[in-house]
Amino acid sequence: MKIIEKLKTVKTSISFEFFPPKTKELEDALFNTIKELKPLNPTFVSVTYGAGGSTREKTRDIVKKIHEETDLTVMAHLTCVGHSKNEIKSILDDYKNIGIDNILALRGDIPLSFEKEKLPLDGCKHANELVSFIRENYKDYYCVAVASYPEGHPESPNLERDIFYFKKKVEAGADFSITQMFFDNSYFYEFLERCQKEGINIPIIPGIMPITNFSQISKFASLCGATIPENVVKLFEKYADNPEETKKIGIEFATKQCEDLIKNGVKGLHFYTLNKSDATIKIYQNIKNLIEQ
Ligand code: FAD
Repeated sequence: MKIIEKLKTVKTSISFEFFPPKTKELEDALFNTIKELKPLNPTFVSVTYGAGGSTREKTRDIVKKIHEETDLTVMAHLTCVGHSKNEIKSILDDYKNIGIDNILALRGDIPLSFEKEKLPLDGCKHANELVSFIRENYKDYYCVAVASYPEGHPESPNLERDIFYFKKKVEAGADFSITQMFFDNSYFYEFLERCQKEGINIPIIPGIMPITNFSQISKFASLCGATIPENVVKLFEKYADNPEETKKIGIEFATKQCEDLIKNGVKGLHFYTLNKSDATIKIYQNIKNLIEQ
């Protein structure tokens, strides 16, 4: 079922993001995670894609397996960088054939191993072109989501410019958006206000990254331009040698973040699970009284 239709029927959507595991053992662990998260009744789950096509088959196999072996609604991420339009079309034809109708349309980052001169000339340069390509070739078959960035995308000179391009993705036919992780809700509220002023009216779902391993998450955050406030850095640095305590305060921090978002009327919460269930389940249990599905 199309996610945009499901979003109309729930007050606060819950969703989970997974990445395609590299080994059979890790795949079994992922399906165990999915089994544990299923009782939380997610509106949808999504599976990431390796930019340049590095996980092309794996992403497709995991998406297909979730679709066929569970009753979860699943969305496939697809990055256009490094793909010709023919390749993109064959990926999308395949998803249509197996009954997938939700796509997160992304540009992706050019992998370091790619030679820029060898990139296909007829590909999509930016995510808005991918959204247009999907709409031109598949009309309304797909529900199309896009990424957005409460603090601006790292390549963008400023937030205003980034919102200008976000709007292009919406005008091209995006149905809803999921945001990059952020650790200070004021960025998200300000972003929503600015989007509203620009006439962007699609649902924007905040991406939540629970901090369960501070050095790992702070590396992710700095790569994608998400600020970790100084007081939060200090809090986690205090427990640098204590993984149990780190996890505990990470869950407390994400719980407070989600409580505040729900109280401010967000449409949903999208958890970056890193293929693990325990932190997400604990956060969910802490906020479930506030969630109306
Ligand atoms: P775009 O929307 O194309 O934007 C990229 C940059 O170009 C921005 O600075 C923007 O301001 C600018 N821009 C946009 N359109 C134009 C235009 N027409 N002309 C000029 N400039 C323009 N990466 C993966 O590899 N795999 C994944 O599965 C994945 N999943 C993600 C899920 C979410 C929810 C998010 C938030 C990000 C995800 N990413 C993923 C990361 C994403 O691929 C990178 O952030 C990438 O750098 C940008 O992708 P985009 O789709 O936002 O690109």
